[in-house]
Amino acid sequence: MRTKLARILVLFLALSLLSACGSDNTTIQVEDVAPKAKLEGCSLYIKAVEGLPEDFIFGMDASQVPSLEASGVKYYDFDGAETDVFRILAQSGVNYIRVRVWNDPFDADGHGYGGGNCNIDTALEIGRRATKYGMKLLVDFHYSDFWADPGKQMVPKAWKDMDLDAKASALEQFTRESLQKLKQAGVNVGMVQVGNETNGAMCGETTWPNVVRLMSAGSKAVREVFPEAKVAVHFANPENGVYPDYARALRDNGLDYDVFGSSYYPYWHGSLENLTDSLKKIRLNFGKQVMVLETSYAWTGEDSDFSGNTISDESSVDQPYPYTQQGQVNSLRAVTQAVADAGGIGVCYWEGTWISVGGASREENQALWEKYGSGWASSYAAEYDPDDAGKWYGGCAVDNQSFFDSKGHVMEGLKAFNLIRWGNETELRVERIADASLRLTVGEPVVLPETAEAVLTDGSRKTVPVTWDADLSELQLPGDYEISGTAEGQTARLHLTVENVNLLSNPSFEDGVGTPWVVENLGGCPDLFPEQKAGDSRTGEWHWHFWSETADKVEFTLEQTPEGLETGTYDFTIYIMGGDCGAAEVYAYVKIDGTIVDTAPMEITAWNEWHPGTVSGVAYEAGQTMTVGIYVKAPNAGAWGKIDDASLSLR
Ligand code: CA
Repeated sequence: MRTKLARILVLFLALSLLSACGSDNTTIQVEDVAPKAKLEGCSLYIKAVEGLPEDFIFGMDASQVPSLEASGVKYYDFDGAETDVFRILAQSGVNYIRVRVWNDPFDADGHGYGGGNCNIDTALEIGRRATKYGMKLLVDFHYSDFWADPGKQMVPKAWKDMDLDAKASALEQFTRESLQKLKQAGVNVGMVQVGNETNGAMCGETTWPNVVRLMSAGSKAVREVFPEAKVAVHFANPENGVYPDYARALRDNGLDYDVFGSSYYPYWHGSLENLTDSLKKIRLNFGKQVMVLETSYAWTGEDSDFSGNTISDESSVDQPYPYTQQGQVNSLRAVTQAVADAGGIGVCYWEGTWISVGGASREENQALWEKYGSGWASSYAAEYDPDDAGKWYGGCAVDNQSFFDSKGHVMEGLKAFNLIRWGNETELRVERIADASLRLTVGEPVVLPETAEAVLTDGSRKTVPVTWDADLSELQLPGDYEISGTAEGQTARLHLTVENVNLLSNPSFEDGVGTPWVVENLGGCPDLFPEQKAGDSRTGEWHWHFWSETADKVEFTLEQTPEGLETGTYDFTIYIMGGDCGAAEVYAYVKIDGTIVDTAPMEITAWNEWHPGTVSGVAYEAGQTMTVGIYVKAPNAGAWGKIDDASLSLR
């Protein structure tokens, strides 16, 4: 009797297992809508990237979609019909959908932190819809309750008191259970990321052995649940040249993984040549597949949701392509070529479906962001991330980098995901006139350029005549002038700077040696020298750099003593930017005959936020010794900064 019952039980269990396995491909009715040939009807110029394998990954991170839809967003296809956005993506050549997964992006009362409130249930919904239209899912575990990136890798609330062993077990179990949910629903998982932009830190851990220990726990769970899926790691900042160090740390600590992926935002992450070179080295020297896991670019400089955007016409970042649909597609095409040149396996675009929630005011949108988590962060995130989300919570910072307009209508740029394979070489036309700049010193004749650079739809340039709308007599005084003009029927812009004669030598440190600047290292700062790095310079290639890993080392003066000055009234300015300085004391100063006669307090806030210090109206008589400089004292461990662009002028 017992035996018979046991047999029935075994049979029942076996049948349950069989039906569970069998359900993988039957619960979701797959509708194959992927384009089989070149899509028709696209006015954008696209040169084919030759030799892309058929399985080359063209991914789209669409994590925000469910929260946007809950907020009222609808998506419309190329015929103007309201359609499932995942269907539109598949029809346009997207073959992978990426989705971020946070452990628990909710407060104790169930209020979402925002950013789509993306947990495994969101991934499940997105995964079902991706699978339905024949696309694979790329699951991006952040192993945090909210955004993880190079600036923050916070441990989930529930794991914060765990030691490393306990955390590794919890992470493995969380990964396994999450993936099992996807598997049971029949979601076609192709790749799983163990961590997001984990530049040396993850899940609250900050040493490679600990980070890799946790990644290994995640990797083990992926191998177990989805043995066919690829395990990916993801880093940012290829421009820093650190990827070989990362890959070595992963290897030396024994991580089992397949894909080494990078973020590549053209306005932050260095040159395409460097991207190719970095990824190629990882592929060849470490035997890993490589790809770009995040990229995006703007199709307009305008914001559409009353929440400022990462890049805009006002932002100071590089603009390697115009902010137009053609510029956006040229960027995607160039990144694809760079990955192909590295022998990489794919490119994933970041949140090209994230658009405005559609309200007519910030207040209307704010209500939706708070209710549905459809902004980048809600006020409820403050409990977990007080310094960033708690201060800056709001809407979408990338609505101008989408492939849908602010009303949800797909734009033809989305077809690039298909057309990059085939090419779509439409007749070349002028896309925009490149901004020009001109620096003059007072007294020089003001001669505006007769030609401008036109940027064509393929990204190439040609020189064209330009006429400027400016009254030369009004451009004689020191100052910054924005001048508009016309070339090829389009608007041209010229930034003119008329400067006083700068009486300092090597004012921007461009000679690379630092002379005749004199540095006095009062605190024993270990890193204190001129540095060549255009991305960290206010102008030119060089600036003066300081950094100390340990506290209380950063204290120094940097000054120079110009010779041959005439009697008169002088103004001195110098710039600084930096971070992690703590309660810093910084000021510009002017000394006459060795005594400080005036100072100007300065501040250090964040990377790329340059602050001037200006000492003005210094009376000087020929024969005296004038010394101008900057004093910096920054007590915190890790204090760093950059000094650039000093000027001394006679009124
Ligand atoms: Ca916005």
